[in-house]
Amino acid sequence: GPDTDILLATEGLTKHFGGLTAVDSVDLSVKEGELRCLIGPNGAGKSTLLDLITGQLESSEGSIYFDGMDLTDLDTHERIDAGLSVKFQSPHVYEDLSVTENLQIPLQRTDRDVNETINRTLDRIGLSARRDVQAAELSHGQQQRLEIGMATTLDPELLLLDEPVAGMSVEETNEVAELIQSLNDDGMALVVIEHDMEFVDEISQQVTVLNQGEIFRQGTIEEIQDDPDVRRIYLGE
Ligand code: ADP
Ligand code: MG
Repeated sequence: GPDTDILLATEGLTKHFGGLTAVDSVDLSVKEGELRCLIGPNGAGKSTLLDLITGQLESSEGSIYFDGMDLTDLDTHERIDAGLSVKFQSPHVYEDLSVTENLQIPLQRTDRDVNETINRTLDRIGLSARRDVQAAELSHGQQQRLEIGMATTLDPELLLLDEPVAGMSVEETNEVAELIQSLNDDGMALVVIEHDMEFVDEISQQVTVLNQGEIFRQGTIEEIQDDPDVRRIYLGE
């Protein structure tokens, strides 16, 4: 049917924190191979929505479908086995381990050729020359790329990124933009939570605007940037 290329679909997804509804009946869909940015003001519910999709948080209501499977009652590990992966906002690398040792961690549960997979990932994240360096010695931007590497060694169908360029220099930001684009060129679908509109403009074709827990607008980056209501809620104009 017409919807067979939908990879991820949330239906009526809702999260209450006490009296606050942080995510309010969200129907989000992501197509296979799509690169979608999720934007919105602080407190809009972006990170909570991501945590519901990965299973870090339990939903109050609604369902999550991925690749035709109902993920709603599965735990995070089972969702990862189904082909989801996530990189959280702050780096979660193991500082006392080398770059290569960090990349081995997600490969512990697979029967892949570890050396080949690690070499391919090092090449992808641009850290081949730093493979034996302790993660603590890397720059902030390199640590973020290492973590994107850890999140992608198993070739997930969908990668979720929460503010991947927060606190980065212009040069580091450009490197992450290139990395995101190369992952997408390889066929990986991505949902990228981002604040920086220039960055969104650089990487994304499709944009979803979240406001007060609800989907406020969806469209291409051009449509979203030109929408006066979006400028009002998002940019405070
Ligand atoms: P965003 O990522 O868009 O900035 P969040 O998803 O972090 O927004 O937060 C959405 C709303 O939910 C905010 O009002 C925030 O204060 C609230 N919130 C987030 N996490 C919790 C929590 N664990 N307990 C209570 N309230 C929370
Ligand atoms: Mg957030």
